[in-house]
Amino acid sequence: MIDVIVAGAGPTGLMLAGELRLHGVHAVVLEKDAEPTGQSRALGLHARSVEVMDQRGLLERFLPLGEQFAAGGFFAGIGKSWPERLDTAHAYVLGIPQTTTERLLTEHATELGAEIRRGCELVGLSQDEHGVTAELADGTRLRSRYLVGCDGGRSTVRKLLGVGFPGEPSMVETLLGEMEVAVPPETLAAVVAEVRKTQLRFGAMPLGDGVYRIIVPAEGVAEDRATAPTLEEFKQRLRVFAGTDFGVHSPRWLSRFGDGTRLAERYRVGRVLLAGDAAHIHPPTGGQGLNLGVQDAFNLGWKLAAEVGGWAPEGLLDSYHIERHPVAADVLDNTRAQMQLLATEPGARAVRRLVSELMDFEEVNRYLIEKISGIGVRYDFGEGHALLGRRLRDVELKRGRLYALMHAGRGLLLDQTGRLSVAGWADRVDHVVDVSAELDVPAVLLRPDGHVAWVGEDPADLLGRLPRWFGAPVTT
Ligand SMILES: Cc1cc2nc3c(=O)[nH]c(=O)nc-3n(C[C@H](O)[C@H](O)[C@H](O)COP(=O)(O)OP(=O)(O)OC[C@H]3O[C@@H](n4cnc5c(N)ncnc54)[C@H](O)[C@@H]3O)c2cc1C
Repeated sequence: MIDVIVAGAGPTGLMLAGELRLHGVHAVVLEKDAEPTGQSRALGLHARSVEVMDQRGLLERFLPLGEQFAAGGFFAGIGKSWPERLDTAHAYVLGIPQTTTERLLTEHATELGAEIRRGCELVGLSQDEHGVTAELADGTRLRSRYLVGCDGGRSTVRKLLGVGFPGEPSMVETLLGEMEVAVPPETLAAVVAEVRKTQLRFGAMPLGDGVYRIIVPAEGVAEDRATAPTLEEFKQRLRVFAGTDFGVHSPRWLSRFGDGTRLAERYRVGRVLLAGDAAHIHPPTGGQGLNLGVQDAFNLGWKLAAEVGGWAPEGLLDSYHIERHPVAADVLDNTRAQMQLLATEPGARAVRRLVSELMDFEEVNRYLIEKISGIGVRYDFGEGHALLGRRLRDVELKRGRLYALMHAGRGLLLDQTGRLSVAGWADRVDHVVDVSAELDVPAVLLRPDGHVAWVGEDPADLLGRLPRWFGAPVTT
């Protein structure tokens, strides 16, 4: 029997497969498309996702293929420079197309031994107390201990589970595509700047080689958003807003997206879980969806591996919903707010001006950037030190960087006292005795996802905390 079937080879499913393989879990990814789409919806990784890649030794692959932006403009497109001294070693957005991110995550997962089966569409599933049966479009049946639906916003898994997806339907729709234009770059830039004075859902971004990524508001909301717009529809909408269609031609691809905003009621039903867009959809404002999905996978991977490995403490797998559902709810809310700030009515424009003024206050700016970038996330681990529940930033140790010690996806006790021990959990938790000028606490216990599970110096206190996340000790 397969340990875990992952439905969907988007960024979420690929990240999850890699995380599972780090723990030796037999993971099979089923992807309905025979080939990658070649369409880049997301264009970047925020600071927390950059950290995630660094924690798994992947950042060296991403950095040369991306471009670092330490500028603002990520909250509702309001262009303010970033605050000083953000709490991360990676205070930038890494501009990198979604297709590249997917390719790198595919390489990583397959190198670790994940099996990715393309052209395999999941169409049915059932579960019993021992496992899950997945049915594919060609009639094949596969059996696994767990199954995770990473199959995007129209998730078949979510629908088959009957999990509610409350929220708001799309009210506005935007056309998006990559194509060439027949006008000089200066002419295009001047017209776009003029239109954007009153319509912020309009833009043209140069991608090189004369290709532009163009967005323009659609007319109404399509019944079936999976159907791509025609070039003629694109041209017609460009003429409505810009008075010209710029002679657009040779489209690489065309698509449409809405502003539907919905959150799955439950992330887990028995042995089946949901992650990424399958669990939450929202408008792309702030560029957060891919990041949120990758971080769902980072939270879920080691917990599911612990279940499969037989050492998970009670409640560990349920903590996935408990921790990640509120994070997604918060992202949905910030995108709702951003959409209001992008509206064209006088009232909305006045609120936008006001928010822009407020962002001149460093604390306001910092608060919004920490939200969008994911570094402000704090899980509720109860009362305690300010670091508890937050992910720890990378810090410099005597022997090198902390994140370089986390590539294997295990727990880690960073012990500046030299008096602590993880005996009994040494198969799950690394014990690093070292010091850092950047860390003013005696010791921290980090979960495999880098979140702080304990802060202190009392060995007995630590012993009381280890089982909550790492299960029972092994006695020799
Ligand atoms: C215009 C636009 C711009 C965006 N920009 C950003 C951005 O800058 N930053 C950001 O973070 N996010 C951005 N996003 C959001 C981002 O693209 C998504 O959040 C992200 O792709 C979600 O990843 P996922 O793996 O959860 O789902 P998906 O990427 O949708 O992947 C799901 C996969 O499952 C497969 N699948 C579906 N059904 C089945 C089935 N039944 N069986 C097997 N396989 C199946 C699909 O073929 C697909 O490969 C943007 C979105 C849009 C529309």
